[in-house]
Amino acid sequence: MARYRGPKCKVCRREGEKLFLKGERCYSQKCAYERRSYPPGQHGRSAQYRRSRESDFSRQLRAKQKARRVYDISERQFRRYYENAQQRRGLTGLNLLQIVESRLDNVVYRLGYAASRPQARMLVTHGHFNVNGRRTDVPSVILSPGDEISVRDGSKKRTFFKNLREEAENRTPVEWIDRNLDSLSGKVIRLPERSEINSNLSEQSIVEFYSR
Ligand code: SF4
Repeated sequence: MARYRGPKCKVCRREGEKLFLKGERCYSQKCAYERRSYPPGQHGRSAQYRRSRESDFSRQLRAKQKARRVYDISERQFRRYYENAQQRRGLTGLNLLQIVESRLDNVVYRLGYAASRPQARMLVTHGHFNVNGRRTDVPSVILSPGDEISVRDGSKKRTFFKNLREEAENRTPVEWIDRNLDSLSGKVIRLPERSEINSNLSEQSIVEFYSR
């Protein structure tokens, strides 16, 4: 299944919580979930009632879908990450979350250089970032501790990046990445701990889903 390209707010309403996919709008009164906090569609309100009686399979499926949608990852790619997580030492669920957190687009978002993950993905695919000094336009690149990312010199002349320092200052950076606002760069120091990852994701249910 390919990546979802439809309306993002419907995804929040489907998953029953705000996933912050639209940047500033998510913090304003225009947020669709604030206005209609029930699933989309003709039977949305009755689906809200059914959700309280969901089966184990439904719970596991929704947990997996929510994680995929938060990070904007296709089913095939997500399953590959799961297989990769299984091969690593430690807890598969935590490994999986650490892998998706280490994606280049997510690191750009975590650095505060984009208002949302979809925007971070777009900035990366447009080739505005270097990874370890080399231009990289693949959002799914997995970064490791020690990897450095920076806005390319040519891109810094653009209006978006000229204003970025000011905007990024208002966004709290995560502790596992060292941010340098002066040079618009960052360095991955370590993998994130569970407490530093979205607490609304249920990695246990995702593992249960894939190990059925
Ligand atoms: Fe979700 Fe943001 Fe849309 Fe609100 S505005 S429904 S948080 S994507």
